[in-house]
Amino acid sequence: MAQPFPSHHGDLQADSRPARLARGLRQLGVQRGDPIVVACCPEHPTERAVAEEAASLVHARAIELYADEPLVERPKVVVACVEGLSRWIELKIPARVVAEGMGDCVIWWTALELLNAREPRVVDMAARCARQPST
Ligand SMILES: [Zn+2]
Repeated sequence: MAQPFPSHHGDLQADSRPARLARGLRQLGVQRGDPIVVACCPEHPTERAVAEEAASLVHARAIELYADEPLVERPKVVVACVEGLSRWIELKIPARVVAEGMGDCVIWWTALELLNAREPRVVDMAARCARQPST
């Protein structure tokens, strides 16, 4: 597979959530310098961090929807939590949306990550967790 970025960006090949999402963003055509709206509300800081790091891994520019600054450009992709998706829909700006919620033309965030997992072993991991003694 071609490596469009220098080898020191090895994180893109990792199996972390940001790397999985980053590979998904690349599938959606995101390129270096593209604006990506991160629409994750204050209740979802983990999702926001994952989206920001994914944007960084593909050298896109993350724009915070919750930053109270007006959106001046149309994003290549929007990455949103459920609340962010609702807020984005209210703006009525056409865009490709990856979100933790369902809707017309919405790409399900969880599915995009799972499709880009290096080792999709969800069942194995669940079984391991179930075996661990409670602390
Ligand atoms: Zn949220």
